Amino acid sequence: MTAKIIDGNAAARAVREGCKKRADALKERGITPGLAVIIVGDNPASRAYVRNKVKACAEVGVHSEMHEFESGCSEAAVLEEIERLNRDPGIHGILIQLPLPGHFHPERITQAVDPEKDVDGFTWRNLGALVSGHALFEPCTPRAVMALIDEAGAAIEGSHAVVVGRSAIVGKPVALMLTARNATVTVCHTKTRDLGRVTRLADILVVAAGRPELITGDMVKPGAVVLDVGINRVPGRGLVGDVHFASVRDVAAAITPVPGGVGPTTIAMLVANTVLAAERQAARTADQDARRGSALAGS
Ligand code: NDP
Repeated sequence: MTAKIIDGNAAARAVREGCKKRADALKERGITPGLAVIIVGDNPASRAYVRNKVKACAEVGVHSEMHEFESGCSEAAVLEEIERLNRDPGIHGILIQLPLPGHFHPERITQAVDPEKDVDGFTWRNLGALVSGHALFEPCTPRAVMALIDEAGAAIEGSHAVVVGRSAIVGKPVALMLTARNATVTVCHTKTRDLGRVTRLADILVVAAGRPELITGDMVKPGAVVLDVGINRVPGRGLVGDVHFASVRDVAAAITPVPGGVGPTTIAMLVANTVLAAERQAARTADQDARRGSALAGS
């Protein structure tokens, strides 16, 4: 079997097209969705990610602005900027580009974002609310994974899904979202015994371990749908996923490539969450105006 390649660039394009229509509708009402990106330091990989995010926003007519800080800056300076952006009515989404320099407490920074503007879905308000299905924003990478499973045409309900990785921003949210769609989910991590025995049970295999080519063809069930979240920079080879693409594509029914899989779709989901934030803000404003109007009419 040679797996179908799940085209993350095409999926991202489709998401952006939908966003553009929604952003255009908002503009007719005088609202331009706005995203603020906070970046600290000059990590080249982070800068490349931010450039791609800014470009994706521009394509759909979402305003984006970068707020740059030197790596030696204080946490207080960044927190102050977040507070200002939380109050800025022209900014609907705030993104903190990770990683932050070593002297920062990343959670102190990510948790300062107003949950209503938390388009990355990283605040505890939003991550915790995934448990009950009430998150204001689902995190972008897990959203991308779910969209690409659907794109592959895989039936999630009733499937056995195995997620390798249990981080708060990828593995755990993916596991919750798959459970919400009625998959039976197993989560693996570094203490899992005989990883291959578990991954071979997966109809849907999501790998987010940050270990280059951890999953090889012999660890995959024939006909499985494989989502490779990993982005590893390997000297001399560029970007490499967590899945050994060459051996797994001979076994799986469908597989995401790296690059060109989960990465671009994740960025499109960030744009989608920003448009959603602006739509919510517009609905709240319309609601307040209507209430003010009826109060005036009654006075
Ligand atoms: P973390 O390092 O936070 O988490 C990695 C997880 O994988 C941990 O739960 C760890 O287990 C588990 N793990 C590591 N090694 C193994 C192993 N040998 N066997 C089983 N489990 C293992 O990473 P993230 O979740 O933040 O990211 C994962 C990968 O996804 C990275 O390559 C990252 O660059 C990429 N990424 C890609 C994105 C995209 O847009 N495509 C977005 C976000 C991340 P334990 O808990 O026991 O330590």
